[in-house]
Amino acid sequence: MHDDLVRSLSMEGRVSVVTGGGSGIGRASAVVLAEAGANVVVCDLDEGGMAETVRLVEERGARALAVRVDVASRSEVDALADKAVERFGRIDAWVNCAGVIIPKGVIDVIEADVDFQVAVNMKGVLWGCQAAARIMARNGGGSIVNISSTGGDQASPGISVYSMTKAAVNALTRACALEFGPSGIRVNGVGPGFTLTPMTSVAREPDPKRREEMIAALKKNPLGMIADPRDQALTVLYLASDASRFVTGQTVRPNGGACMS
Ligand code: NAD
Repeated sequence: MHDDLVRSLSMEGRVSVVTGGGSGIGRASAVVLAEAGANVVVCDLDEGGMAETVRLVEERGARALAVRVDVASRSEVDALADKAVERFGRIDAWVNCAGVIIPKGVIDVIEADVDFQVAVNMKGVLWGCQAAARIMARNGGGSIVNISSTGGDQASPGISVYSMTKAAVNALTRACALEFGPSGIRVNGVGPGFTLTPMTSVAREPDPKRREEMIAALKKNPLGMIADPRDQALTVLYLASDASRFVTGQTVRPNGGACMS
């Protein structure tokens, strides 16, 4: 156990994998892990987004590898883990951040909407947990962080299937924590509240006045704030590092107090 605060949060000499690392919370997580000293394997479907994240990671003095992967494919995620080991020798932290949303109410959902969100948000996280655990068990342990959502705890209009997939992520986090704990692998979640990224309806709103109104409504939480992706990334760093060595099976919820559970 480190008795030095900074060392307990340090990722110096460690190797991390971040899925969905080409944008938003995944990019911020890659950058913060690099600032803490980790080398970062960035995985995404968006090659331009990954290239920018690699630039930001390298700018911070860390090494980076970009791998184009569809997290819905078990074989591609397995190959990602092998490429990370081939390049950096080990994996200490794995962040399952890739996610998608198709905003629709229950009545309007069609099968393709369900299949797509389940494939990326649920299967993608499951394959990531499997691949990470396979490698980490050989190293004597590691930390897996699954990005969930407030939607996994609380109903909101128009995001029914997305919420279903995120509740499943919370359940998977607990199951993996139970099964992988004896191998020294901790598994935790981050359940972000509204965070300004390209995924959000606010980012897609073309009318600036309407955008401001939406942001004002989203700030109606006890802290009166919305999150920057870095707010989520700092929680990812805590869970990835030794600072959280006694924490497993938990989903930490940086959401300004919007939802307390
Ligand atoms: P984002 O759209 O900015 O980033 C998501 C990234 O995932 C993109 O780069 C995208 O290309 C990648 N991706 C999508 N499908 C993929 C696939 N099949 N394989 C590999 N990569 C894929 O969104 P974000 O807001 O940064 O979201 C990151 C995570 O945070 C998601 O899991 C999301 O559900 C969760 N989240 C976001 C918010 C928010 O308010 N932004 C709130 C709660 C939870």
